[in-house]
Amino acid sequence: MVHLEPAGQLFIVSAPSGVGKSTIIGKVLPDCPKMRFSVSSTTRPARPGEVDGKDYHFLSADEFRQGISSGRFLEWARVHSHFYGTDRHIVEKWLGDGFDVLLDIDVQGTRLVRCAHPAVKTIFVLPPSMEVLEERLRGRATETEEQLTVRLAAARREILESSWYDYLIINDDLQEAVEDLRAILRACRASREARSPAVKTFLMSLIDLTITS
Ligand code: ADP
Ligand code: 5GP
Repeated sequence: MVHLEPAGQLFIVSAPSGVGKSTIIGKVLPDCPKMRFSVSSTTRPARPGEVDGKDYHFLSADEFRQGISSGRFLEWARVHSHFYGTDRHIVEKWLGDGFDVLLDIDVQGTRLVRCAHPAVKTIFVLPPSMEVLEERLRGRATETEEQLTVRLAAARREILESSWYDYLIINDDLQEAVEDLRAILRACRASREARSPAVKTFLMSLIDLTITS
């Protein structure tokens, strides 16, 4: 009999703004009852339709600074001139309770999380081209022209960092990108490291039997 022990896996999905990361994650999460999504905190103003507590915890600059000094964040970074951070307590509680946890954070945050959680699996979503990325950002119509320029310049730098991520998804056809993320999560859950705690008791009982027979 294989016994499951609580040991959640941590995943990070990164991508330059506008590649389609939130769209892909939004399609995959409902199929993952054992997965929890970490809602980040940010000082960025909410976009039309964004809900406080669901898309982000929208904080004032003072609240964010307080969060930094009280150690609230597992990591935090300045991205496109706003602050973004991951709540340490909730992520560590979920992992301890045996849930897998998905973070949607940038490359700076990913580096920091990797120090605290070296087993984290990192996934980078690429656009098929810079032209398509620009079209998607413009199509979303949530940024001013100035913000667009900042995000596209940041995208070039971020894409170069994709070389050290564990998995790459190219978001050309949306359905294929969604299937890729599902497949990566599933393969990681079946990896030896992830399954070891669950099969340990089983393997130990076989070792005892082999020695005594
Ligand atoms: P991100 O979370 O990476 O900033 P979004 O998920 O908001 O990006 O997607 C940016 C825009 O691109 C949205 O308007 C979304 O509907 C669109 N989009 C996402 N993936 C695709 C795709 N594969 N093909 C065409 N449009 C897409
Ligand atoms: P947006 O403003 O488009 O929602 O997000 C901008 C960027 O901030 C994205 O690359 C997103 O992944 C990143 N981001 C969102 N939350 C966090 C976070 O908690 N920490 C870090 N480091 N980056 C984040």
